[in-house]
Amino acid sequence: MLETMKPNPFQVAQQQFNQAADLLHLADGYRQMLGDCDRELTVRFPVTMDDGGIKVFTGYRVQHDTSRGPAKGGIRFHHEVTLDEVKALAMWMTWKCAVVGIPFGGAKGGVICTPNEFSARELERLTRRFASEISIIIGPQKDIPAPDVNTNAQIMGWLMDTISMQTGYSVPATVTGKPLSLGGSEGRSEATGRGVMFVTMEALRHLGIAPEGATVVVQGFGNVGSNAAKCLAEMGCRIVGLSDMYGGIHNSNGIDLAQVNAHMAETRSLQGVPDVERLTNDELLALPCTVLVPAALENQLTGMNAGNVRARIVAEGANGPTTPEADRILREKGVFLIPDILANAGGVTVSYFEWVQGLQSFLWKEAEVNAKLREVMVRSFHEVMAKATDLRTDLRMGAYVLAVAKVVQAVEARGIYP
Ligand code: NAD
Repeated sequence: MLETMKPNPFQVAQQQFNQAADLLHLADGYRQMLGDCDRELTVRFPVTMDDGGIKVFTGYRVQHDTSRGPAKGGIRFHHEVTLDEVKALAMWMTWKCAVVGIPFGGAKGGVICTPNEFSARELERLTRRFASEISIIIGPQKDIPAPDVNTNAQIMGWLMDTISMQTGYSVPATVTGKPLSLGGSEGRSEATGRGVMFVTMEALRHLGIAPEGATVVVQGFGNVGSNAAKCLAEMGCRIVGLSDMYGGIHNSNGIDLAQVNAHMAETRSLQGVPDVERLTNDELLALPCTVLVPAALENQLTGMNAGNVRARIVAEGANGPTTPEADRILREKGVFLIPDILANAGGVTVSYFEWVQGLQSFLWKEAEVNAKLREVMVRSFHEVMAKATDLRTDLRMGAYVLAVAKVVQAVEARGIYP
């Protein structure tokens, strides 16, 4: 069926799960259990703005499944957040943690807001009030938030402080992606992008392409996109295209990332970077390249534009960037697609390392964190490859079948309470 509009992310997540459930011949009870979310908290809360007025915001925290451990997942601040988006992201977190073998379940949170319109004080008040509202379900043994779109280490610091103040003592393991000064982990801020690089390197090796001969296009130049670009450039790849919410930039001879970072630090946008050609996001996604890294939001590669993709590899830095229709088109074109629940699992992997360090009051060195991350990503890539080959399916379904089977194993081992 032709996609006429952008699909609902939760329906996409459910469709992917059902496909894996079919391959696993999963019993109906398990389908019902895992095909929807365990807990959905909606909060409406007031924030005092700098002009003295009050604004009311809506936010969500959703836990999909906690069979394999405490719930884990980021918090997003964005004007297009919906409950169904948060539910999809929570479900994807369950599978992601299972794919890489990390003992967490899946969760996600979001607040409908436009954070770049807030002052720093307004952002802090909104974060603290939201933290307080969801404090009834989060905590270091229950559900551990982390950064996502438009949230960062500072916001995690405010969240951790709010929960600590309510608890009466410091609880660093209550969030991950915190500032280093609060027990954040070395390597966490780069971890998702670095993980994208590790699996991309394995894909290049598998396809017999040398990194030095590979060109890379990255959509979204936030935490994930900028670090994926940096890490891939460090491996010798040539970055030829980048974009943010305002549009894209292109230079087939290579974009100078040092120049881009200096420009970003000044203007917080890619617009105006020297020595590049400007293009639209659609033109960017159609650039000829070896590796395309969508690292912005859901539903970017769709039935309308997937046919134009000229990348050999798509490494999904974002969650849910490819619609099912686009998935089919890319598969038919022979594009090697590394699915989100594998490709961007580096973030939650180092979040797990940070949580462990927090609980043990211990700090690991960056080289140790990066080496352990590499081990997890490379092992998981090959496990997913083997499963996909075994089932004669694509890497997305390979990853799903691995993940769903691990969660079902945990459910079976625990039994159904009471
Ligand atoms: P971010 O807020 O740091 O960056 C988002 C980037 O996307 C910004 O550069 C923004 O300008 C750009 N963008 C927004 N809309 C766009 C559009 N329509 N076209 C092009 N660019 C657009 O967010 P992030 O943390 O880098 O997250 C990006 C994606 O990666 C999300 O899907 C998120 O869920 C996923 N992810 C993040 C992490 C993490 O550790 N932060 C981990 C796993 C997955």
